[in-house]
Amino acid sequence: SSWWNHVEPAPKDPILGVTEAFLTDPSPHKVNVGVGAYRDDNGKPVVLECVREAERIIAGNKNMEYLPMGGSMHMVEETLKLAYGENSDLIKDKKIAAIQALSGTGACRVFADFQKRFKPDSHIYIPVPTWSNHHNIWRDAQVPQQTFRYYHPETKGLDFASLMEDLKNAPSGSFFLLHACAHNPTGVDPTEEQWKEISQQMKVKGHFPFFDMAYQGFASGDPERDAKAIRIFLEDGHLIGCAQSYAKNMGLYGQRVGCLSLVCDDDKQAIAVKSQLQQIARPMYSNPPVHGALVVSTVLSDPNLKNLWLKEVKGMADRIIGMRTALRENLENLGSPLSWEHITNQIGMFCYSGMTPEQVDRLTSEYHIYMTRNGRISMAGVTTGNVGYLANAIHEVTK
Ligand code: PLP
Repeated sequence: SSWWNHVEPAPKDPILGVTEAFLTDPSPHKVNVGVGAYRDDNGKPVVLECVREAERIIAGNKNMEYLPMGGSMHMVEETLKLAYGENSDLIKDKKIAAIQALSGTGACRVFADFQKRFKPDSHIYIPVPTWSNHHNIWRDAQVPQQTFRYYHPETKGLDFASLMEDLKNAPSGSFFLLHACAHNPTGVDPTEEQWKEISQQMKVKGHFPFFDMAYQGFASGDPERDAKAIRIFLEDGHLIGCAQSYAKNMGLYGQRVGCLSLVCDDDKQAIAVKSQLQQIARPMYSNPPVHGALVVSTVLSDPNLKNLWLKEVKGMADRIIGMRTALRENLENLGSPLSWEHITNQIGMFCYSGMTPEQVDRLTSEYHIYMTRNGRISMAGVTTGNVGYLANAIHEVTK
């Protein structure tokens, strides 16, 4: 007998499990469209040139001391500008409580713990569907979850009427998790007009908007444009919360660099809130990692490197948009009678294909194509070389 006899294996993570299965498949034809990480047109991971250059600047030039509990304030300042705007009065007036976070996941988790601690009776309303880890994060922070309707399976678009109804029917002062852009897994975002209505309704009900912004720049290729939803809410005077991540838009996946921010009534409240966010971080991980924060602050505070970054983000977004067109055209040229318009209507890294779990299982077993069983295709894994093979396989299993 041992201490841990009662411990059963944990269920596989639906997203990370896909890559594990892909890696053990010996087939030369195998395709991984499960992973939520950008790949170049040869299917290879990418390190941005602006990041390489920042690393050359940093190399041998910085110490490895601990960052403060709240992380690199230089990085945080630059990061806030991306979400709230270069000339944001909220930043100038020091109304935003913000800390460096362990990428987007860490930002969501610290917020969830903060919510539990200071609004102990609150719930979090999560869209259906959402990134599966949202459920884990708020569950482990012991915040009860509710859902709101978001995606319409028949139109493969937004179920706007139901979303608005659910906002209306939720008790006043509820917490809502919103994807700021490039909704994961559906690739379906509200239009600007719809965001305005959502913001208005949330204002009327006094709901709290928490934006998870994991893909700023990935939706349209322009980080400013992808911040539009947040800016609309700010114009309406919402005191928002926001999780930002540099995993995707700077390709810093494994560096775990991001930011959590909460807009406060005034600078005094912001100081209090920030100190409590740090207090939550202290016993969990004490302080965040330094290298990624240095890379980000180096890139964003140098105008040339920032321009290079903007060009490279646009390059990644454009390649994905190009692959959407190619996948749709291939399916149409194969004579598929189904509509594949949603492939090009949806945006960001993912295409919510509408394939059933059984169809996905056939893609995997017969064609060595790996993806999550909810039918989500990571467009970042699609290349000029595999798009024809992928389209043919999708056509075969959806006949
Ligand atoms: N939020 C959403 C919607 C995501 O899709 C992801 C990554 O897949 C994240 C947050 C967080 O990613 P990370 O913790 O790597 O920044």
